[in-house]
Amino acid sequence: MLALLLVGPIALPKHSATNPSGINATAPHPVPILPEAWPLSLAAGAARVVEGTFRLGDTFGNVLNQAGVPGRLIDQLAHAVKPDFNVQRIRSGRAYKIYFTPDNELVLFRYQRSEQQTVLVAKGASGWRAIEITIPYKIRPRFIQAKVLGSLEGALEATSIGRTGAIRLAHELAGIFAWDIDFSADLRVNDNVNLVVEQRFLEGRFVGFGDVLLAELNIADRVYRAVRYQRLGAATAYFTPVGQSLQRAFLRSPVDFTSISSGFSHRRMHPILNIAKPHYGIDYVAPAGTPVHATATGTIAYVGRTGQAGNHVKIRHGGSYTSHYLHLSRFADEIKVGDSIEQGQVLGYVGRTGLATNNHLHYQLDQSGTFVDPLRINLPAGAPLADELMPDFIRQRDAWISILREGQVDRPLVLAGSGE
Ligand SMILES: [Zn+2]
Repeated sequence: MLALLLVGPIALPKHSATNPSGINATAPHPVPILPEAWPLSLAAGAARVVEGTFRLGDTFGNVLNQAGVPGRLIDQLAHAVKPDFNVQRIRSGRAYKIYFTPDNELVLFRYQRSEQQTVLVAKGASGWRAIEITIPYKIRPRFIQAKVLGSLEGALEATSIGRTGAIRLAHELAGIFAWDIDFSADLRVNDNVNLVVEQRFLEGRFVGFGDVLLAELNIADRVYRAVRYQRLGAATAYFTPVGQSLQRAFLRSPVDFTSISSGFSHRRMHPILNIAKPHYGIDYVAPAGTPVHATATGTIAYVGRTGQAGNHVKIRHGGSYTSHYLHLSRFADEIKVGDSIEQGQVLGYVGRTGLATNNHLHYQLDQSGTFVDPLRINLPAGAPLADELMPDFIRQRDAWISILREGQVDRPLVLAGSGE
C-alpha cells in the first residue's frame, strides 16, 4: 500500500487532505500509519534532518534560515503554500522537522499543528504545496481492574491510570450504563470493575484513553456487561455480549433528583388525604424549576392542568407505553399536543401544582392502560444488532474477552485490514 508513496515526485492534492494514505477516512478504525509514512520517499531519502520546537519569537523564516534554507526560497514557498498553510500562524511550542537532500536542498518541512494534525510542505509536480494530514491514533487495548471503596472515579484512580484517565473512564461508564446503573447510588464496597480500554498512542507516545471496549461490572451482586461495537456510518454503541442494545427505549429517571419520597405501591397512606391510596408512580424530590426530561421519544398527548395532578404532561411512546409528568411549575415553551418529543428533551419544570406538599415530580408510566413501576419494569430495549453483523461483533467481543480473562496488559489488538 505504501509502495505507491515511494515513487516521486509526489503529486500533491490541491486542497489539504485529512488522510493522504488513501484509507477510507470514515472507516471506524483507520489503519494506523506513521506520520513519516508520507511522503516516505522524501523523508527516507533525506541526508540531514533538523528538528526542534518553535519558541516565542521564532518565525517560519528564521527557523528555516538557521537550518540553511536560502531566504529567497523561504519567501517563495511561504507564498506558494499560503492558500493551504499560512506560515504566519505558526505557534510557539509546536514541533517541526526540516529534511534536506544529500545536496543540502530543502525537500520537506513538517509542522506539528496539533496532537493529531501535521502539516507537510513539499515540492510537488506543480511547485511547493502544503497538505495537512491527520495522524490516526495507534490503538492498544489495556486491561484495567478496579475495586470499589467509595466512588467509581476513586476506584479507577487507585489503579495506575492516573486522575485524568480515571475521570474520563468514570464518565464513559456512566454513559454506557446510563439505562441500568446509577453509579452514585448503586455502588457497594468491594464491587468490581473490569475493563478493556483503548489506549491511544501517537508516534509511540501514550496520549490518553479512547473508548471502553469491554466492561464487566459486578455491582451489588449483579453482573453488568457491555461490548463496544461500531457500525459503519453509525455512532459507537454498546451491546450485551449477545448483541442486545444497552440503550433502553426509556431513561431511568426524568429528572436530576435529590431523593425519592415515594415509590410505586398499590397501597400507601396518602400524605394529605390521609387515606390508604395506591401510588402508581415515583415521586422525585427536586428543587422547584429543575428541568424535567421526556424519558423516551414519543408524541405529546396532553399538556394542561388537571385538578390534583396540577400541571401535567402526557407522552405517548411507540409500543404500548405512556408516560406522565405531574405537579410541574410550568411547561417548556415549545411543548404542544400532537408534537413529537425527543428522549431527554425538556418538557417542563419541577413544581408543586395540584395536590402536592412539596416540590417534586410525580412520574408515572403505563403499559397498555396498566400502571407499571418504572424502576422495576424490564423496559423495552433499543434495537439489537442485525444478524449479519453478529459474526463481526462476536469476533471483536471474543478478542476483548480473552484480554479481560487473561488480565493481560497492553496486548496488541489486531484490527481487520490493518495488516499488522
Ligand atoms: Zn406521586
